[in-house]
Amino acid sequence: MHYLALGSTDDIGASCHYLNLAGTGLILDAGVDPETDGVESLPELSLIHDRMGRPVDHVLVTHAHHDHLGALPVLVQQFPNVGVHMTKPTQMLAEVLLPSSARLQRRRLMEGSTTARPLFDADTVEALGYLYEGHNLDAKFDLTGARGEGEVTGQFYHAGHVLGAAGVFLEVQEAGQRRRIFYTSDTHLRSQTIIPGGEYPEDPIDLLLLESTLGSDEEAEQTTRREQEKLFGEAIARALERGGTVLVPVFALGRAQEILALIDRYKQRRIIPDETPVYTNGQMRAVADLYDRTRLASPRLNPDFEVFGVDQQRFPRSDARARQALSKPSIHVTSSGMLFERTLSNKLAQQLVEDERHGIFFVGFSKEGSPGDRLQRAAAEGTEVILDATNGQEAQPVRAEVARFRFSGHSHRQDLVELVGKLRPKKVVLVHGETEAKQWMRDTIQRLYPGTEVILPKQGVEIEL
Ligand SMILES: [Zn+2]
Repeated sequence: MHYLALGSTDDIGASCHYLNLAGTGLILDAGVDPETDGVESLPELSLIHDRMGRPVDHVLVTHAHHDHLGALPVLVQQFPNVGVHMTKPTQMLAEVLLPSSARLQRRRLMEGSTTARPLFDADTVEALGYLYEGHNLDAKFDLTGARGEGEVTGQFYHAGHVLGAAGVFLEVQEAGQRRRIFYTSDTHLRSQTIIPGGEYPEDPIDLLLLESTLGSDEEAEQTTRREQEKLFGEAIARALERGGTVLVPVFALGRAQEILALIDRYKQRRIIPDETPVYTNGQMRAVADLYDRTRLASPRLNPDFEVFGVDQQRFPRSDARARQALSKPSIHVTSSGMLFERTLSNKLAQQLVEDERHGIFFVGFSKEGSPGDRLQRAAAEGTEVILDATNGQEAQPVRAEVARFRFSGHSHRQDLVELVGKLRPKKVVLVHGETEAKQWMRDTIQRLYPGTEVILPKQGVEIEL
């Protein structure tokens, strides 16, 4: 059994792992690095090209976030015989998100915000969609490769992260032994507002590929979701009471729908006035539609809840109507989550930031240097901010209330370490985390479970397991 990291291993980057299980070649996830564009954002697929001993039989995509899915069309074109597997909701999301990613890449090149050529076009991606095989959570499927020496089976486990997200359970017959492998991908052990916590295999496994996203985030384990929900609701209520408008920048898949469910709960509990208008925009509305269409067929805390059951309007396109929408107390749940330049949330932040009545409330992570991060720093330090440096904008004073609430779709590190205790793996390979995060995870796992070997892989360096 061999493991090879195809994506970057020093930071989160593009998720893409290669496993050779008794002659069967599997790729787990086919993501792009969200911090770069074009070919630079791809995992190192040359490592598996024309290599003896590295056949490519199947790719399993765990969920529809771009850092796990975005390179799939490239991979499928380079390896036309590969079998493609995902859960049924992820398949539905991929059919919406991949063509939309193609259109976005083209638009960014046209408007000059990148020089990278698009990785694929929308027509090609739509044509490739028929290759994807959607699976139910409880179904085992055969993955044995053309030159496989032992049977390999796969099964998806609900991962609790976003709609469709799954961990991968693999079994392989190798030299007369049955070996059990589990890849958590992005996982959340606890319930959010719509999506219940993840599920995991019952019996001990041999090899665990474990995510480490929040491995260096001490604060994450010190806050509870319930407490964050309370503080977030109170902050929205205060801003509305002072006649302000609330902007909640969100990611289109996952956070947007969870936040709408929370706003609905606040209205029902009279924490905020029921008549407060809520505005949404763009892709999150297409994703919300898929949340609703799959609500009876995929894990939910409340299958009756519909995202479009939450009273909401599309943010108006015309300037006059947009000004009108912003002028009265209202809530705007808009993308992007990190306030990237030329997105609606960035434009709204520019219009709201100078007025102390308004609130700009972050509900997710903003990477260092992103406009979302710059705004939070400026608010904390009392300095001015330029939210969109690409259009010669002048610095603005930050008078609006700016705050961050923690609603991660990932488990905090103590929960991840507990999962190791539950799955009792012989070996753990740490993935999807910065070096510091993985080091904390390794040290803690080794201290608590001294019999478990912990491996920090390096991109391109094959590991015999
Ligand atoms: Zn994810």
